Amino acid sequence: MYAVQYQAFEVTGEPSVGAPRVAMLRDWLARHDLDGFIVPRSDEHQGEYVAPCSERLRWITGFSGSAGVAIILRDKAVIFVDGRYTLQVRNQADMSLFDVESLIDNPPAKWVSANICKRARIGFDPWLHTISDAAALNKYAARAGAELVALAKNPIDEIWSDRPGQPLGAISIQPNELAGELARDKLARLSDAISKAGATHAILTDPSSIAWAFNIRGSDVPHTPLALGFAVIAAQGTHLLFMDKRKMGIEVEAYLTQLCELLPPSTLDTEVAALARSGARIALDPALAAEKLRMIVQDNGGEVVEAPDPARLPRATKNATELAGARSAHRRDGAAMVRFLCWLEAQRPGSIDEITAVSRLEEFRHRVGEETQQPLKDVAFETISGAGPNGAIIHYRVTRASNRTLGNGELFLLDSGAQYQDGTTDITRTVAIGAPSDEMCQRFTLVLKGLIAISRLRFPAGTRGCDLDSFARQALWLHGLDYAHGTGHGVGSYLAVHEGPQRLAKTGTEKLLAGMILSNEPGYYKEGHYGIRSENLIVVEAPSSVEGGDIDMHSFETLTLAPFDRRLIKADLLSSDELDWLNAYHARVLAEIGPMVDGEALKWLEAATAPIR
Ligand code: ZN
Ligand code: ZN
Repeated sequence: MYAVQYQAFEVTGEPSVGAPRVAMLRDWLARHDLDGFIVPRSDEHQGEYVAPCSERLRWITGFSGSAGVAIILRDKAVIFVDGRYTLQVRNQADMSLFDVESLIDNPPAKWVSANICKRARIGFDPWLHTISDAAALNKYAARAGAELVALAKNPIDEIWSDRPGQPLGAISIQPNELAGELARDKLARLSDAISKAGATHAILTDPSSIAWAFNIRGSDVPHTPLALGFAVIAAQGTHLLFMDKRKMGIEVEAYLTQLCELLPPSTLDTEVAALARSGARIALDPALAAEKLRMIVQDNGGEVVEAPDPARLPRATKNATELAGARSAHRRDGAAMVRFLCWLEAQRPGSIDEITAVSRLEEFRHRVGEETQQPLKDVAFETISGAGPNGAIIHYRVTRASNRTLGNGELFLLDSGAQYQDGTTDITRTVAIGAPSDEMCQRFTLVLKGLIAISRLRFPAGTRGCDLDSFARQALWLHGLDYAHGTGHGVGSYLAVHEGPQRLAKTGTEKLLAGMILSNEPGYYKEGHYGIRSENLIVVEAPSSVEGGDIDMHSFETLTLAPFDRRLIKADLLSSDELDWLNAYHARVLAEIGPMVDGEALKWLEAATAPIR
């Protein structure tokens, strides 16, 4: 009845594709007097998800992970992946053809300087590398005495005979009842910021920024409602939006025409070149914008102003309407989670597997969406559904090959999210299957203490995410334990589930501002045994006075509404303040979700949220 639509469990990519395709590329390189070519996984927009036509890394290597780079030389080929993908790459790419290197410890730029011969000519596609990325590659290539050659055409596109076309997903307008600010007002704010930065124009290359600024959503890539395109925002005068009109109905086209001039994507380079020739000072974000754009501006006599994408902070600080939407989305998502958790607890240990769990959860989300007439638009990412030792793999993704039964005495980690038109969700709950061990309960409670510590924080204006990260780890650290990931990432408003610039992590140097949505997701992973993670989304609240205090303080509002598994909580490890927080949270879950469920699920919810003493 509710077919699972949004997650696939097949592993695409296979080692046998590598050899003939690499041979074709080498042939092309020889004909063009090049010694190598760099193939990143990224597209022109540097997003987490790319369209099928941009899966060049997968096409040439067979590797389908979400991050990676290959360098193919005449007599050698190497693929760079991070810790998430060291196993997967060995199954998907031909290991007799590719060496594997660490994307983090020995990144491509560094590898180039140690492995390339003097006077070698290495090609790259400047649309697919950011300005900072290209600068690093250039520096290291120069160190080796080699030359990095920006190619006018991507050789893979030349030899990939059945390459899919550019995506043409339909664009919809995000109405003001959900966006809370008209596009023309947002564009005016951006124009102001651009002129303050000393520029005449800014090129938005991140489709999330374009979606936010123009109040549109698209369907060009999986799991994030983006319309791929570029925008040139003018400090004064007409904005330009480079987007294929075939993605628009009459209404959307008429709407966008009032805000900007609509131009075909193929004219971006000539239009930017024309602006540059007229003396424009064009702001580009070096961490996001394609190297090619820098080249076009400078080759035509324009000036590049290096500045962060002007839409990032306004997009990150959600307005009251967006926050109201997020609360509503989280209530519906909570109702689906509660029905799922009730169903899960009723299953006999050993009777279901990870894929069944993913499918049932998606089904519950569809059902709540249908009941409330707020349909599930997509899952926000591929659900992490890990039983027993699979739960210890931080970025585990279940496939038909890895699928595991939820066995008696195991922990089951489920990290999932949903896209609704009024908000994006991301929630992790760890559940005991049968009777958990004492150690599992102790570690679960230490992780929960970290989540509660973040939830209860008060902090002064100007505090950065890196200042808060260790509060989530303190209880684990006392016991000689830790987790190898950040505590939280930014989350979009019916946009990307991983959105910058804010984060709770050692690398989170951005100040936390009112309205920012973050995840709060400490964990603990025992390799080969089990994984624990608990995740709520939280919002930074405006500073307010503290009774008897001198300074106004920010705090966090929790958005996510679902019980924590009380069978895993050791109440004697919680302080009375922590216990008060937990009981108040569970009481709130019951008050808000109770009216949305009935029968067995309501009975289950009442028991799951009963006060713990
Ligand atoms: Zn998550
Ligand atoms: Zn998350």
